[in-house]
Amino acid sequence: HGRPRRTSAHGWSRQPSRFDGTDVGDGDDDGPMGFRLGNVDGRAVLVVGGRFVDVEAASDGDLQSDARSLLSSPDALAELDDRLRAGATSGDGAGRDVAGADFGPPVADPPQVFGVGLNYRNHAAEGGMDVPEVPLIFTKFRSSIARPNADIELRSDYCDYEGELVVVIGPGGRDIAVDDAWAHVAGLCVGQDISDRAVQMAATPPQFSLGKSFDTFGPIGPFVVSPDELDDPSALRITTHVNDEVRQDGSTQDLIFDIPTLVSYLSHITTLHPGDVIFTGTPGGVGVAQGRFLADGDVITTTIDGIGTITNRCRRIPDHPNATTIPAG
Ligand code: ZN
Repeated sequence: HGRPRRTSAHGWSRQPSRFDGTDVGDGDDDGPMGFRLGNVDGRAVLVVGGRFVDVEAASDGDLQSDARSLLSSPDALAELDDRLRAGATSGDGAGRDVAGADFGPPVADPPQVFGVGLNYRNHAAEGGMDVPEVPLIFTKFRSSIARPNADIELRSDYCDYEGELVVVIGPGGRDIAVDDAWAHVAGLCVGQDISDRAVQMAATPPQFSLGKSFDTFGPIGPFVVSPDELDDPSALRITTHVNDEVRQDGSTQDLIFDIPTLVSYLSHITTLHPGDVIFTGTPGGVGVAQGRFLADGDVITTTIDGIGTITNRCRRIPDHPNATTIPAG
């Protein structure tokens, strides 16, 4: 109840929105809707409108403050969100303003972090690569995970941006069928799969995992947005600006391997856990294809419609040992 349901060939049918009309959610007809889960000072918060409340306090201690345990039962979060909207509970009063709050990564310690390479045709093409026939999976080591508006530490002159839709696993599992996959997705957020192309291409075959795993190379957020909050979670516009220039402008509708396919594929190989994170790949327009890399002071702004924006300023710090390896375009 309240989770995405498949009813059509498109694989997606949204429940009626409580926000279409005057029904503001008394909770007894539509069932629980979605939620936006954030992290402030290491504590899970629900974002409702422009305010946020502490999950543990608002639930009178029924729910813990740990994101991974909360994500294992997203319906409980949706129900709490419903009660907040209905004014049935307020936790620590009316909550605090989102504006000015310092949000951490919504999942600070994901058990596993997967990345998907070459998952948009125009990105495969710009790299001169064939479209893969199975998902091309790498890992970002989890110490790369950073707050949504973290500074990015550049340790060579060959670092690159990759704006991405990030999937956050809810109830885990293995051997998940494609048709059941959305039920295992707690939500979606915005991510940057920052890549040091010098490290990535210093070895043959390329070292995706290392090149994408420097500290600060995985900002995610601002919130985990449950699919129920979105009109169509399988068709989301994603843009990346560097300073004022649009560098990437795509739609997740163009994913070669879509979210259900990725969740199912991964779960047939490795058990998925609540809080696991999947960076689903980047659309065309990355810097390496143009010979344009990130520099000190650059500001990367990544937006996914309906989910939010993360903003990351680049800081050039001292070189790593492979910093002078020039990556091939
Ligand atoms: Zn990527």
